[in-house]
Amino acid sequence: MVKQTENNAKQDVSPLIRDIMTHGVVTASEELSVAEVVTIMNQSQVGATVVVKADGSVSGIFTERDLLRKVNDTGFDAKRTKVSAVMTSAPQTIDADARLSALWSQINEWGFRHIPVVANGELVGMLSLRDVFRLRIWNMETQLDQEIRSLQQLRAFLHLDTDERAKELMRINERLSQLALTDDLTGLYNHRYLVRRLQEEVSRSQRSKTTLSLLFVDIDRFKRVNDAHGHAAGDQVLRGFANILRNTVEGGSVLARIRRHDVVARYGGEEFALLLPMTDTDAAMVVAERVRAAVESTPISFDKGHQVTVTVSIGVATLPIHGSNEEGLLAAADEALYRAKSAGRNQITHAWKHGGKR
Ligand code: GH3
Ligand code: MG
Ligand code: MG
Repeated sequence: MVKQTENNAKQDVSPLIRDIMTHGVVTASEELSVAEVVTIMNQSQVGATVVVKADGSVSGIFTERDLLRKVNDTGFDAKRTKVSAVMTSAPQTIDADARLSALWSQINEWGFRHIPVVANGELVGMLSLRDVFRLRIWNMETQLDQEIRSLQQLRAFLHLDTDERAKELMRINERLSQLALTDDLTGLYNHRYLVRRLQEEVSRSQRSKTTLSLLFVDIDRFKRVNDAHGHAAGDQVLRGFANILRNTVEGGSVLARIRRHDVVARYGGEEFALLLPMTDTDAAMVVAERVRAAVESTPISFDKGHQVTVTVSIGVATLPIHGSNEEGLLAAADEALYRAKSAGRNQITHAWKHGGKR
């Protein structure tokens, strides 16, 4: 009796094991002789069969290895010996949902070449060592392929002349920074990240009907710092400024920092942005004032032994009061910042309410 089991439990099989196992199990009745079962195995080209009882339940597993063990026994007669006398009773099975790591360790531990695969207690396939090796080789080939490709890229790069190499490096750097979420100079979040978070936070606060405040922080007369000390010194000042911002906004306990999902970002040039979820205008004005006061009172070092103190102007806008979406909120914060500048700098202004003053 040979029967390909119905693979009706196939949908329960984990993708990995389903992909690598041999589908359908060749079964043989426990009443058959070893010789008959070997014939069946040859015909079906399998290295193992599941031996079943008359009612179809699993009795054991018979493999090529079981046969080899017996062949040299004196008096062994394959035609007269029942397969049930030679098979491995109560074979180890592997669950179809097992993870790859479990598979490796079980195969190593048991040293079996064939493992019946079960799902919901039902036999759904057979996993042979060959299937497992095929997967291993496939994994290695994929890895090798990737290594070869990056080596080819490296070789192509090394063949370029110096000019082309420099250009290629710049292109690569640009691509990398496009993928990055932080600003190279200050280490704060970059413009791209802020825009992405703004989208998320706006929809979150619309959904949960909570407030969201956006602060634009612009260094006053920063051009003068560059003009007086040079662009490189200006960069150092921007870095020092970023630290003040970080410490002022993110200061406090780690827990407080995690609980508040505040975003401190470099919006561009000498302009920075703070995104404060679940913060209304009054609370945002308090944060803004803390930043303004800290900047005004903290000298920033540059080069060796030089210091400069800068001031900031800040525009504050809150969703849903000053804007109802991302564009509205950005425009409102920008407009408020512009008024802070016009009014004399080193100050904070919040946006107009829709259609009038707050
Ligand atoms: P205000 O905002 O108060 O109106 O004056 P400001 O001088 O700060 O504004 P403006 O927008 O006229 O000039 C901004 C300056 O910031 C010009 C530019 O040289 C400088 N800047 C922008 N990005 C960088 C940077 O990455 N490094 C350095 N060193 N300077 C920068
Ligand atoms: Mg400025
Ligand atoms: Mg500016």
